[in-house]
Amino acid sequence: MSDADRSIDDRGTDAGDKTELERAGDVETAGPGNDFDPVQVFPESEEMDLRPGADDCYKCSTCDTSCPVAEVDDEFPGPKFQGPEQWRLKRQEDHDIDETVMKCSNCMRCDGACPSDVPLSQMHNTARGEYVQKEMSKLSVEYWRNRTLANYRRLAPLAATFPRTSNFVMGLGPVRWLGEKLFGVTSEREFPEFATETFRAWWAKRGGTETSRRRAKAARAERGEEGSEKRIAYFHGCYANYNTPEVAKALVRVYEHFGYEVMVPEQRCSGTPMFANGMLEDARRAAETNVDELATAIEEGADVVASCSSCSMSLRQEYPELFDLEGVDDVAANTWDAVEYLQVHEDLTGELEETSVEGVAGMEDFAYHAPCHARNQGLAGQTREVLEPIDGVEVHDVGDSCSGISGTYGWKEEHYDTSMKIGEEMFEHMEAADAEAGLTECPTCSMQMGHGTGYEITHTLEVLEAALVGDGSDGGGARPDR
Ligand code: SF4
Ligand code: SF4
Repeated sequence: MSDADRSIDDRGTDAGDKTELERAGDVETAGPGNDFDPVQVFPESEEMDLRPGADDCYKCSTCDTSCPVAEVDDEFPGPKFQGPEQWRLKRQEDHDIDETVMKCSNCMRCDGACPSDVPLSQMHNTARGEYVQKEMSKLSVEYWRNRTLANYRRLAPLAATFPRTSNFVMGLGPVRWLGEKLFGVTSEREFPEFATETFRAWWAKRGGTETSRRRAKAARAERGEEGSEKRIAYFHGCYANYNTPEVAKALVRVYEHFGYEVMVPEQRCSGTPMFANGMLEDARRAAETNVDELATAIEEGADVVASCSSCSMSLRQEYPELFDLEGVDDVAANTWDAVEYLQVHEDLTGELEETSVEGVAGMEDFAYHAPCHARNQGLAGQTREVLEPIDGVEVHDVGDSCSGISGTYGWKEEHYDTSMKIGEEMFEHMEAADAEAGLTECPTCSMQMGHGTGYEITHTLEVLEAALVGDGSDGGGARPDR
């Protein structure tokens, strides 16, 4: 029996066999002095009720035309089918979730395209979770490959303990070949290197929040902001911790420059790769820790900032859409993209007006790709606007196409070609831009940009660091803590 049928049945049971008119009469006689027992019209449901979203779809197909996977893969039925249509179909007892839901890359472009605010990615995530739970064999290579990719953070600490050995072994041709043949991870891509020191190790060595508090206080005094308190909790995610600590360090230095005390709470993966692989229970466990830790930081007066656009997307949109956790709405409401936060709370443009990166290698001429998850947060034009006042920086926007990698999606052997076909437009535009490096805020878009063009890729926070902090102007000599 479907939820809708159950609702009707429950109403019938509660109200007996009365007619509509008789029931209306019951309501009219209820009031002060009358015994009125409110009736639970709809049963409590453990599931999110997606019916209003499904009913809002008027089949315009705008979402289908915005889907990068549907554009290059004729066998993918598109977001309208994966969302409202599949939702309706699965109300029928004998209908299983269609396996094509695993072809959706979770780029979430369809969310922004729908004129009727149908919660498409919420529907896709829910359907994918159900498909993996009920239809996918837990003994299959696909399940374990996906689970491993989705739980990168579980393997990363081991690899990061012996980074040089890990990088050497994972770079070997035969290892990549075996990874594809046995596990379905494409051998076409080079594994990202592990840093020789994680961000969290650097942070602890540097003195953690105590040191940051001291630096922030000194910066506030220099800026004439004594007496004010500025505090952020940094959600660095897995990649900035294990692979690109330079991005996380740039965030710390830029925020301290503006007088912010940085807190680095305990955290787990944001859940982005888990949503994309239908591992909702893994994602829920990670979300429980993250929401708990970040809600505590918020109580202590911090706002949450993330340097990865998919992490901020997850905390802001996917958590409240999928998990009924205490504090989840508070965390969503107080989470920001790291650059967005500075733009809103500081005079970032004014501060950057007198700065220059002229002569700083790799910091002058960029081909910029706005990640889909940044677009979804309304941040598509942000980087160009923010970097514009810096003397010497040229940012060429490479257009609004998807990079195609979408986290773990482009790492799967069966999706590699689709991923590269989607990325073609971005590669062409990057090459036509005649820049010296790539620029983006998403770690996996960055992998794809480098893979498709051979460019070095920089994060926007690193450019801000070069302009605002530079060498030796962060209160302690030439990047003493680098
Ligand atoms: S864009 Fe929205 S309303 Fe149009 S078909 Fe897609 S889900 Fe339905
Ligand atoms: S999330 Fe991306 S890949 Fe998936 S249906 Fe929507 S637009 Fe297509």
